[in-house]
Order: sequence, then structure tokens, then C-alpha cells
Amino acid sequence: EKDELRLLLLENISMGAVAAFKTQGFQVDHFPKSWSEDELVEKIGSYHAIGIRSKTRITERVLKAASKLLVIGCFCIGTNQVDLVAASRAGVPVFNSPFSNSRSVAELVMSEIVALSRQLFDRSRELKEGIWNKVSKGCWEVRGKTLGIIGYGHIGSQLSVLAESFGIRVLFYDVINIMPLGSARQMPTLEALLAESDYVTLHVPELPETTNLMTSVQLAQMKKGSYLINNARGKVVDIPALITAIKQGHLAGAAIDVFPSEPGANGQPFDDKLNAWSTELRSLPNVILTPHIGGSTEEAQRMIGEEVSSALTRYLNYGSTLSAVNFPEVDLRAIDDGAQNQIRVCHVHVNQPGVLRQVNEILSPYNVEKQYSESKGDIAYLMADIADVSKQDIEKLRNMITHTNANILT
Ligand code: NAD
Repeated sequence: EKDELRLLLLENISMGAVAAFKTQGFQVDHFPKSWSEDELVEKIGSYHAIGIRSKTRITERVLKAASKLLVIGCFCIGTNQVDLVAASRAGVPVFNSPFSNSRSVAELVMSEIVALSRQLFDRSRELKEGIWNKVSKGCWEVRGKTLGIIGYGHIGSQLSVLAESFGIRVLFYDVINIMPLGSARQMPTLEALLAESDYVTLHVPELPETTNLMTSVQLAQMKKGSYLINNARGKVVDIPALITAIKQGHLAGAAIDVFPSEPGANGQPFDDKLNAWSTELRSLPNVILTPHIGGSTEEAQRMIGEEVSSALTRYLNYGSTLSAVNFPEVDLRAIDDGAQNQIRVCHVHVNQPGVLRQVNEILSPYNVEKQYSESKGDIAYLMADIADVSKQDIEKLRNMITHTNANILT
């Protein structure tokens, strides 16, 4: 029963998420801080779900102690704080919220396009220092200019729409073919995009292929007087090469939100010990530097709360693993609450030959209405809607192989 499911929420997860879980009838324990590994090992055994942000570490030891745990929700973007392999071996899907801040990043880029074009940060800094310096040379409207978007995913495509509404022409480059939004145009090569763009903005993930995507070679292919914007990941741009391109006057400015090494907490220095070129970069004109705030807005935080709490609820209620980071993605239409004696079997098992046959043998006497299974790495997940499975057969499914977590959700 739902009111027997206990949820542990750490690190001050939004009250909206707490309210959403309580509305579902779950028992919720909500704490402001993260818990240490020892504290988790001691207490996690009575919980069916846990919600964390980036500070709580879910290690293999914690997972071993989490005998009732069904699901983990990371109310943030990253999932490095969870041992994802150990979680999938334990049959525990992990959910996060990778795209809830796309709009925030796209809006920041729009503001940077205008601010770079008007040398806004330099004028503002001068005036704060008591210097009146009214200039129009080298300051531009953005209307009619060309924006080149590298990576046309969640953020790149949002940005495309916003930029066109400013009267900007949009080109994009992506490794896959994507239907352009509005009047945007996909370019066949990165070089072609760089050659035509007044602003180049990066929205690719951090991958071996995107590390140093922009080196001195690509920067030289950009138009003279153009601008580079990086809100993606720090290693995508070779920063010493960018410094040279700005010093030589080839680029008119840059906005950088992400760095190869970033301080671990607010207040820590952003200096040459962290990145050898820091002082040089900080001294350049028309370069906007921000501390990885692309996705940091109240709205994005609220959406993270909504997105992750609904993913956990869908899993606990219906077994849906759509968008889980470490697990096969399986879903069937919600079971009909009115259907008599119908149950949904959600069975996680080791992905090896013969296991599915064993499961189907146990289910064979029953009328299986719908069934779907999927595998990912070592783990396979089967979902089936069935009438009247006996308690003995449910136990058989549970005990089929030791390394199995069979969740029976009615
Ligand atoms: P996404 O996965 O939706 O889109 C990424 C796109 O890049 C995809 O269309 C993919 O095909 C394309 N791509 C991959 N490799 C490529 C390559 N070599 N060349 C060209 N295109 C390539 O991702 P998203 O949500 O739009 O996020 C993009 C980036 O923004 C990620 O690196 C993410 O970490 C970063 N991000 C930063 C902040 C911030 O605070 N600054 C916030 C959110 C996301």
C-alpha cells in the first residue's frame, strides 16, 4: 500500500516536491542537510525511496544497507554522487533532471549576445570606477546578424527560437540531422558555420570528441570581429588559444560560464592555481566571465523538483523507468485502476540468456494483457499487466535468482 512506502528526502529538497509526494499518500521524512555515509548506512534500511542533491553520496556500501530501496532521485543535473553501477546491480533506477534548466541557459546566452555586442560589461565596470566613457565604435545591434549554434539539442534549439525573435539569422551544426526550428539552417560542417557566424555559441555535451572542439584552428576559421560564447563544458574550448585570438583582435569578445577546473564551493578562489591562464583571461576587454550560472535560476530549481518528483512517483506507482539514467527504459500505459484483480509485475533481472524464459514460464498460466521488456548492460527489466497472479508465483518470481529485485506493484 502507498502509505507504507517511506521516502527520505535530504538536502532541503523543494517543498513543492514534498507536497507532491504527500498528495500521493507516501510517508515523507524531509531533512535540510545531507547525511554522511555512516548515517545513511545506519538509517536507510527502512526507506523505499531517497531524494538527494549533489552532496549526499550513495555508495555501494549505502546500497548494500538499503534493503528496501526501490528508487533514487537526484534533484539536480549530475549523478556522479551515486554509484550508478552498484545501483543498477541492486535493481534500483536513478532519476535526475538533465533538461529542466535549458531555458535558463538559452536566456543567458541571449543576454550575452547583446552584452558583448554593446561592450556592456566594460562600460559598466568603467562607470563603477567613476569613468564616463560613452562610445559607439565597435558596438552593434544584433538585428540582422548571424548566430552559429554548435549542438542543436535542448538548449541549442530553445536558443534558436529566442534568437530569431530578435531578428537574428540562425545557423547550426550538429553531428546528427535535426529538423530546424523556424527559419534556422543546419550547416554541413563546423567550418562552414564558423565562416558565416557573427556569434558562435557552444551547446554540446562533454565527450572525448568535443574536448578542445574549439582550438586555434577553429578560432581562426571564425569571422574577424566575431564573438565566442561557451556555456557548455569547460574543456570544449582551448582557453589559451582563445586568449591569443582576442589579444590579436581576431575575436571581439567572449562570454565564458564554464571552465576546465572550477572551484568546489562559493568563496573559493578562481586563480592561476586552478587554471594557469586565469589572470590573463580576467584582464581581457569585452570578456564576460560567470561562475557556471547558466542553469541557475529559481524556475529551473522548481522544475527540477517537479520533474524528479513526478519520475519517482511514476516509478513507485506504475514502474515506469522512462528517463532513468542507469536502467532500461520501460513503460506501459497506466494500469486501469478499475480493473479487478489486475496487477502489474515489474521484474528486474540479470540480462543473460534464459532468464526471460524462466519469467515467462512462471507467467504462462495467466492472461498477460500487456508485456514489455528492455535491457541495458547487465540489467533487464520486464513489465507485464496480468490478472490474478498467485502469491506463490509472485514469490517464485522474487526468488528466481538471488541477484533479483522483483517489485510487485498493484
Ligand atoms: P542535449 O543533449 O540536449 O544536446 C546536445 C547536442 O549536441 C545534441 O543534439 C548532440 O547531437 C550534439 N552534439 C554532440 N556531439 C557533437 C559534436 N561533436 N558536434 C556538434 N554537435 C554535437 O544537451 P543540452 O541539454 O542542450 O546541453 C548542452 C550542454 O550544455 C551540455 O554540455 C550541458 O552539460 C551544458 N549545460 C550547461 C549548463 C550551465 O549551467 N552552463 C546548464 C545546463 C547544461
